Amino acid sequence: MYDYDLLVVGSANADLVIGVDRRPDAGETVLGSDLATHPGGKGANQAFAAARLGARTALLARVGDDAHGRLLLDSQRTAGVDTVGVLVGGAPTGVALITVDPSGDNSIVVSPGANARLTPEDVKAAGSLFHASLVVSAQLEIPLETVEEVVRTLPPATRFVLNPSPPRPLPPEVLAACDPLIVNEHEAKVLLGDASGDGTPEDWARRLLAKGPRSVVVTLGAEGALVASATEGAVRVPSVKVAAVDTTGAGDSFTAALAWKLGAGLSLAEAAAYAARVGAVAVTRRGAQESFPTAAEVEALSE
Ligand code: ATP
Repeated sequence: MYDYDLLVVGSANADLVIGVDRRPDAGETVLGSDLATHPGGKGANQAFAAARLGARTALLARVGDDAHGRLLLDSQRTAGVDTVGVLVGGAPTGVALITVDPSGDNSIVVSPGANARLTPEDVKAAGSLFHASLVVSAQLEIPLETVEEVVRTLPPATRFVLNPSPPRPLPPEVLAACDPLIVNEHEAKVLLGDASGDGTPEDWARRLLAKGPRSVVVTLGAEGALVASATEGAVRVPSVKVAAVDTTGAGDSFTAALAWKLGAGLSLAEAAAYAARVGAVAVTRRGAQESFPTAAEVEALSE
């Protein structure tokens, strides 16, 4: 009955990465490594991750009519994402300018570009995609009013999953639609207005639930995750022990896998356990999209 297991509404960026010995001071020029260009952005990453696992996936996003936009469309299609909802034009494709120093620390400048032009009207015009999808996921690298329109457009039977990244305060209607709201520690603290850093993940989940979402997932990196809902209480989901080399995109692959498995009927704890396996494989490889596993690779991961 549904054409898509997952519709991802979100950003698509070209990540432009240069290695440097050190960052330039104001007015200074330094030489860096060859430029590496990678498809990225949280929306594109989530769609890519879901499709690679085998989920029937569509992406609603906006890219520029330029080489970076074509790179993103190509990578999505290669993974098997239906790009019928990817709008082209209006501004240059979003770009993240990333310098990496020898210690592995990143400095990043993001130009949202076309992501900032994904409008509520674009969401309204894509109503048929919403009706064709079991689950819809979003993040916050697109305008908040666009995410608000996503929530208004959701058909009653469609589940909504939100990773509020980058985090900012959310209106009650958006919070109330989340099932689950997926946050890491930093996002939890921003949403709770709680920079102090006190409290346990159980505390954060309880306080976040009080803000209205039907369920909450707190991702805890190598510690796994915590899932919580009013009906089922809080449950810790262990991680899988792996030799992590690069955690970029772990959260995006976790969110995509969780959303897909929820649509397939798994409980929140079961879906999070599967998503933790997906995130565990992703951190054993470099990069974001290129680190995302197939379902067979997740199966093959030993406990
Ligand atoms: P990012 O912003 O880097 O994409 P995130 O902070 O949103 O990530 P994480 O909590 O780092 O999300 O990772 C998501 C999930 O991936 C975790 O809940 C966990 O299950 C898995 N994971 C992450 N890091 C590791 C690790 N070092 N070992 C095993 N599993 C990991």
